[in-house]
Amino acid sequence: MNWDEFAAWGAKAADWGKEYHQNLRDRPVRSQAKLNDTLNALPKTAPEDAETMADIMADFENIVMPGITHWQHPRFFAYFPSNAAPASILAEFLTSIVAPQCMLWQTSPAATEMEIRMMQWLRQGIGLPDTFSGVIQDSASSATLAAVLVMRERAVNWESNVKGLSHFAPLRIYCSDQVHTSIDRAIWVAGIGQDNLVKIPTSGPMKAMDSAALQAAIDADRAAGYLPAGIIAATGATGMGACDNLNEIADISEREGLYTHLDAAWAGTAMICPEFRTMWEGVERFDSVVFNPHKWLGAQFDCAAHFLRDPDALRQTLAIRPEYLRTHGTEDVTDFSEWSVPLGRRFRALKLWFVMRNYGMEGLRSRIRNHIKWSHALCNRLRQHDDFEIITNPILSLWTFRMKGAGDVDSLNQKLVDAINDDGEIYITQTFVDGQKVIRFQAGQFDCEERDFDAAYDAITRIAAKFS
Ligand code: PLP
Repeated sequence: MNWDEFAAWGAKAADWGKEYHQNLRDRPVRSQAKLNDTLNALPKTAPEDAETMADIMADFENIVMPGITHWQHPRFFAYFPSNAAPASILAEFLTSIVAPQCMLWQTSPAATEMEIRMMQWLRQGIGLPDTFSGVIQDSASSATLAAVLVMRERAVNWESNVKGLSHFAPLRIYCSDQVHTSIDRAIWVAGIGQDNLVKIPTSGPMKAMDSAALQAAIDADRAAGYLPAGIIAATGATGMGACDNLNEIADISEREGLYTHLDAAWAGTAMICPEFRTMWEGVERFDSVVFNPHKWLGAQFDCAAHFLRDPDALRQTLAIRPEYLRTHGTEDVTDFSEWSVPLGRRFRALKLWFVMRNYGMEGLRSRIRNHIKWSHALCNRLRQHDDFEIITNPILSLWTFRMKGAGDVDSLNQKLVDAINDDGEIYITQTFVDGQKVIRFQAGQFDCEERDFDAAYDAITRIAAKFS
């Protein structure tokens, strides 16, 4: 492909994107492909001779698109959103064209300095004090891994990178029984071991960690010769949106000298609206906070905002400075590769710049507020319906419900979820709450409208009627 052809196909791709997005409501939200449909449609070996872009694009439509689940569909109510606002798509397009690798300041000063400034904009946006510095990680999982590595190093006087862990008492890290599996995985990868991740029971409507039980676990561990290293809290955990009481946890961590990390991967975006910040009161006392603009803010995957009260602790844990990575003459530059596990870095700040400028913070706030308002209204409509019960009330735009029935109600609800997703009008998922299977509803697709919530009500009640 030469650059003239690139320009022509680039324009066609933009037109295709406009058509795709404007007609998304006509497509089933979850892919209706069967297992191996795509695999079987793809030749077993790569072509020896060049093929035309026209053929490749035709196959993209015919082979790939049927196997795509439409995360940008306005009636995507499953998991958490993974939005791609048009301004963000354009920024990513430009980034792919220039394709810089931004590991060091000198490998693209604009990328580093844009990242510093965008993290300041975001920090102000979500109301964190200016004592926090920010870095963009690829995912919340990576930010949590980085935080766990800091907990590990700090607890053993910065010696485990060199000596390994066998010289020290087993470390202990504490979290609630509601946290995302990225916390478990970070513990595995850091070599701490699942048995040393202590899951504290939760209670109340927010399913917050029981702080008396947390303190008791730390005391018991110290008495038994373990080495407590850190606490990981959640604001808006994945299942039903559990939120820990951050001040209670900070009281304990400050007393015990433990490093604290907050996983607000989904809910963090809503903190751009000041009225929701009561959910994470005390956040300024945490050492590390992550949220994903790639979920609800409109900056497409991947983009995880990681804020730190003391970036030196992270650098002390992760920085390696061989001669070939040094920037001579400017010793005080920020090299963000020292703040993250991978060395190589994409230019992720550009899409934040495009999104925050093109929508304005007020434009972004009004979207979040609408999603929450419409989601609450749908919850209340289903609450009035005889066939359903609300199991957990909305936390921001996330709530869970269940179809009533006799006999195996878990199976009934799974069948309902499957039937709804096979129908394609909307997409939802299931989870367990207190041991019972429930249906999980969240709203946050960037372009959804009130009519999409009416469509959700109609789809749920229409399909459930077949089971009653
Ligand atoms: N934390 C929470 C609460 C999540 O819901 C998720 C994913 O949905 C993650 C962490 C992991 O996010 P990522 O895919 O950015 O690693």
